Order: sequence, then C-alpha cells, then structure tokens
Amino acid sequence: MSSDTDFLLAIEDLTVSFDGFKAVDGLNFYLDEDELHVIIGPNGAGKTTVLDMICGKTPATSGSIKFRNQELTKLSEHKIVHAGVGRKFQNPSIYENLSVLENLEISFPRGHGVFGALMFKRDEQVVRRVEEIAEEINLKDELHTQAGLLSHGQKQWLEIGMLLIQDPQLLMLDEPVAGMSVKERQDTAHLLRRICKGRAVLVIEHDMEFVKSIAHKVTVLHQGKILAAGDMDHVQSDPRVIEVYLGH
Ligand code: ADP
Ligand code: MG
Repeated sequence: MSSDTDFLLAIEDLTVSFDGFKAVDGLNFYLDEDELHVIIGPNGAGKTTVLDMICGKTPATSGSIKFRNQELTKLSEHKIVHAGVGRKFQNPSIYENLSVLENLEISFPRGHGVFGALMFKRDEQVVRRVEEIAEEINLKDELHTQAGLLSHGQKQWLEIGMLLIQDPQLLMLDEPVAGMSVKERQDTAHLLRRICKGRAVLVIEHDMEFVKSIAHKVTVLHQGKILAAGDMDHVQSDPRVIEVYLGH
C-alpha cells in the first residue's frame, strides 16, 4: 500500500520506456508548496518528458506521481489540469488575433473554450481577476492590444497569465526565457519569484544566470536519472555536473 505524503508533488520510481529506451528511469522527485524548483541537464536528458508525464501527455510505463496525494498517472490530461496542474509549453499557445484581455478572459475557469468565454457577460469578478493577472504579468497597459502584436517576451508572459488565472497549485514552465531580452529575463525572474507563493513552480531552463536568480532547488537530469540535486552552489560544484553539463 502506498502511504500519504506531505509533499505537494511526490514522484516515485517513475519510468517511461520508448521501445525499450528509458527516457526517464526510476525518478524520485519531491516538491513542496512555495518551492521554485529548476530542472537542468543536457539535451535529451528527459526533462521535457518528466513534465509530459506529470501533465498526462505521456503515460508512465511504471511508477507513481502523487499530487496532493492524488495519483496522476491514472488521470486524463483534462483531469490533471482540473486537479490544479498548469503547464506552459516552449511555444506560447495564445490566440494571436484576440486582445490580451480576451485571451485572459477565455482562460478564466468559467469560460468553456473560445465561444463559451466570449458569450458570457463580463461580470465584475472576471474583470477584477483579469486586471489583477494583467498587472502581475506586466501587461496592464496592453489589455486592449492584439496578442499577435506583443513582443516575444510579452507573449510568454501572457501565456503564464492564462495559466495563473486558473490558479494552479503547480505551475510548470519549459524554457520560459528562451529568446527573451536581458530585461525580459529579469522581469520573468521577478514574476516567477512572486508567483511561487502559495503554489509550487517547476521550471526547465538552460540559462544558468536565470536559474541562479530564481531557484530554491535545482535537479540535474542526465540520461533519465538524477545526477545531482540541491541548492545551486551544491549542484554547480559537483564534478559530475560540470563534466556532463556545465563544462560545455
Ligand atoms: P530534454 O527535454 O531533456 O531535452 P526530452 O525529454 O525531450 O529531453 O527527451 C528525452 C529523450 O526521450 C530523447 O532521447 C528523446 O528523443 C526521447 N523521446 C521523448 N519523447 C519521445 C517519444 N514520444 N517517443 C520516443 N522518444 C521520445
Ligand atoms: Mg526539452
């Protein structure tokens, strides 16, 4: 019998095998509430696959993923979102021809898809929440801007906002600052440090300056397994991490 855990997310002995190739191999991984955790590691290490498994996109071959003590490996993607897990992919999936306001509105939990969301009346509650989120993601002055006209960085923030408006307890971001300017990276670091309060944030990133500026804990993945884990200083000084990743 598996027992209850105090962790927000508890992953145990998680494995996925693609035609015999183990992209994730016996992973044990734990997240607390309020924790901002970064996964680093070379290309092909299995980082994205771990997020794919947590959000139900890739079924596990074996092992367990418990989120608030609910087993996720048996749930559909939709139910996992409903359980409180939000995931941002590398390319933002926003509606380019709608305004920032409309994109956020559509993502408000009451709205069911584009049509449902556009038909419901803009009540006070929704407007307040949209404004709150727009402020949080530095897009308060762009509410009526068409999303397609935003900068690359602003589009990334908008997608983060579209997840935040659903108030996930776990937010996962795959390479959120790729392609961003230095200033946008700094603003994103501030944003992530703010939004990890009251939830957990799990980030995959390569930009080590950025990782250093946000991570409470770092896990280094290599060939589907954990090579090292701990705070940034600990991980950075690990000779194996330097050899397989940081040295390059
Ligand atoms: P990372 O994000 O760390 O760069 P990935 O998780 O994307 O790595 O990929 C890990 C390994 O698993 C890679 O060798 C990749 O080719 C393989 N892989 C990922 N998804 C699949 C899949 N659906 N089918 C087969 N192989 C896959
Ligand atoms: Mg990846």
